[in-house]
Amino acid sequence: MSPIRKLDAVVVDQIAAGEVVERPSSVVKELVENALDAGATSIDVILLDGGLRRIEVRDNGHGIVAAELVLAVTSHATSKLSSSADLEAIASLGFRGEALASIASVARLEVISRTPHNPAGASLKVDFGVVGEVRDAAAVKGTRFIVADLFAELPARRKFMKQASTEAGHCVAWVERLALVHEGVAFRCENNGRLMFEVRADDDLSARCASVFGAHIAQRMIALDRPGEGLSCSARIGPPESARRDARRVHLFLNGRWVRDARLLRAVREGVKEYVPIGYYPTLFLALHLDPERVDVNVHPQKTEVRFRDERIVFGTVVSTLRQCLAASTWATRSVGVFGSAVAETSSSGGATSSHSFPAPSWQRPDDLRASSAQRLDLASAVAAQLPLTSAAQPAAAEFLSIANTFLFRPVAGGVEIIDQHALHERVNLEELRREIRQGQVVMQPLLVPALVDLSRTELELLLGWQKTFLRLGVDVDAFGATTLAIRGVPARLTRLHPEKLVMDLLEMAAENRAASPEMIQEEMLFSMACRGAVMAGDYVDREALQSLLQRGANLPQDRTCAHGRPVRILLSIEDLEKAFFRR
Ligand code: ADP
Ligand code: MG
Repeated sequence: MSPIRKLDAVVVDQIAAGEVVERPSSVVKELVENALDAGATSIDVILLDGGLRRIEVRDNGHGIVAAELVLAVTSHATSKLSSSADLEAIASLGFRGEALASIASVARLEVISRTPHNPAGASLKVDFGVVGEVRDAAAVKGTRFIVADLFAELPARRKFMKQASTEAGHCVAWVERLALVHEGVAFRCENNGRLMFEVRADDDLSARCASVFGAHIAQRMIALDRPGEGLSCSARIGPPESARRDARRVHLFLNGRWVRDARLLRAVREGVKEYVPIGYYPTLFLALHLDPERVDVNVHPQKTEVRFRDERIVFGTVVSTLRQCLAASTWATRSVGVFGSAVAETSSSGGATSSHSFPAPSWQRPDDLRASSAQRLDLASAVAAQLPLTSAAQPAAAEFLSIANTFLFRPVAGGVEIIDQHALHERVNLEELRREIRQGQVVMQPLLVPALVDLSRTELELLLGWQKTFLRLGVDVDAFGATTLAIRGVPARLTRLHPEKLVMDLLEMAAENRAASPEMIQEEMLFSMACRGAVMAGDYVDREALQSLLQRGANLPQDRTCAHGRPVRILLSIEDLEKAFFRR
């Protein structure tokens, strides 16, 4: 056995570096955050081989005086925090005082800096933890960090690096994230001499979104800004067709810090669930500004995880901001969801704008869309004029052909309209139930024979705790013995509802989310009722029932998507058909 001894400082820093410096992009992130903390209004990131060979970050911030250069690269040395009391309210991006020391322990680092009041600058080199001497150096105001040969002396770490192009992508991603939320600051990033990303200092949030997500998406993003005492929020949500299966386009910020938090992501999914299909994430910019005392960012060395003092309020704000934002969107207007090529913005007198269906076919590139948008505009407005299911021009059930007892087809000018019968019914149910709740409570139909559901004692207790919410939703329950729930009434309009299934849905949800609030229970119940009370795919719907469904569907605040974000209706345009038959 070896004796116990204290590790030397370089090894300590290298161990710490394992947590902070994962790859070149971690270096970029830390150096850009430092530049932002230094009040820079212009930040340049210059990479060679995706940062594997060399990373340079230049800023025009307040600089570091010569006498403090050595301290800056020493671990646990920071100018941003002085006592543990400061930890309670961190306003800067950095505070741990370990990034520079960590980076310098696993690479060759050089810093050249000049403060505004000094005529000359100074420089310092650190080679894999070995600190050199501070020298005079010619420098403009601000700071330059050069990090070369990352992990060169740590082959085990180097091995985990990906191709230079992949690493470059990670680096640019960090520049984009920080550039999105730091208005007033110019950012530039190049790799091997090629410009990868750029925003000017006076570019506003929309311009920044355009640089990051592309102009086509940025144009269609919905904006919502919610000022507030102690907690304010601003959001930009991309159109449904820009949603992705991974969360890479979800950008959540807390006080200027990009954060990634599983629970926050869940709040995002909750907020968008009626517009974005389950399993997809929207393109999203969401910046929260919160009193620093109400959040703890000191959870993880990379500082991307956070803890909130009052989670409910924060998550509630996220969910309601997103819902509010989406409710104002043109995607939620009653227009026909169009499919494929017939995409265009129309400003018809009814205020309806055509919208994309989801998901966009893979052959559809934003560039193609712009190319012939003029032609499409005509087509789409022609279609919009023919298609809307307004009460005035309500289609007759006889116009539809039912395929597989699931899809309803009818020819329309400009193409074929296809409705998913379940999705439409679910949306109709949801909107009607919501209207009844707004008016007081859902109209209830007592059951002649109560439905009995056998449960465990805890399950029964749990459900009885929600009795009031149930009643508001038109579901009357009480205990029938120690382990049986009796359902004595259900919403009058949901003739197809199986109360037992509803109860099972709720128990499942409760198991997933123990801290559910009454509002959440109500929402969840509404969704479950809307779905369980709807005709299913494959169910035969006779003409009379279809006519009534179409009629109810004609007066909805939104009929584009079902309660789960899938489309209710799509239009297969003539152009789509022509493409399918290679006539175009
Ligand atoms: P932290 O950011 O947590 O304080 P760092 O190791 O990243 O720790 O930086 C150490 C210190 O070096 C900072 O507190 C700051 O005083 C100084 N510093 C780092 N980068 C810059 C910069 N670009 N401009 C001015 N000062 C800087
Ligand atoms: Mg820092």
